[in-house]
Amino acid sequence: MSLLELSDVNAYYGNSHVVFDLSLSVEENEVVALLGRNGAGKTTTLRAITGTVPRRHGTIAFRGDSIVDQSVDRISNRGIKLVPEERRIFPTLTVVENLSVARDSCSGTEPRPIEEMFDIFPVLDELRENRGRNLSGGEQQMLAVARALVQNPDLLLLDEPTEGLAPVIVEDLREVLEDIVSRDVTVLITEQNVEFALDLSERAYIIESGENAWDGSIEDLRQREDLLEEYLSVG
Ligand code: ATP
Repeated sequence: MSLLELSDVNAYYGNSHVVFDLSLSVEENEVVALLGRNGAGKTTTLRAITGTVPRRHGTIAFRGDSIVDQSVDRISNRGIKLVPEERRIFPTLTVVENLSVARDSCSGTEPRPIEEMFDIFPVLDELRENRGRNLSGGEQQMLAVARALVQNPDLLLLDEPTEGLAPVIVEDLREVLEDIVSRDVTVLITEQNVEFALDLSERAYIIESGENAWDGSIEDLRQREDLLEEYLSVG
């Protein structure tokens, strides 16, 4: 049984149908990339999983149980945590306070110790008492990931974590995510930075206009310059 299995999932914003019969699966302890151009439907697919898209139908199973009719809170309590593209950290709270709020609002999973977050994210250790609004984009992204991780998710959904970050910060983030992955966290990641996603993942799905276009191993994808060029504007 897969940890997460989507089968023929459709998602809508009002009358606008943006994800069409999409299928994908994620195994326990796997890192899977969800790739595609701008507007391909990657964010919407993650929102379909977390229940935050206005309307969706199809089969979405987590550990074999259907979650498609469950509330956003129930799904979160099952251990599925999303780090959204826009990060949404609390600007007036300090780094420690942001992590404490996440830990204290955790239900369904046993939170990880906040001190472990400072081991994983040394940059945050130095910024413990700094307010969210005073952090750089890269630091905010680290905090957004740490805030999800402190809730000890069974499945971490990362929506374009490198968006807007300088190359040197992207390198720091790569190291942090490699560390997280080595701690047996299962990850589904969307990225425009294809190289970043390929380095981190074992398998990938490419979607185009809300539909499955290709899936396979990263090893195979690296050989497929045609796909990289056609669907991902790389090449
Ligand atoms: P990006 O890299 O731009 O985030 P994406 O692959 O994540 O791209 P989505 O954000 O899922 O794509 O968008 C898929 C489609 O849904 C796009 O055509 C987009 O314009 C549309 N869309 C996204 N959000 C909304 C919304 N709130 N209301 C209406 N349409 C939306």
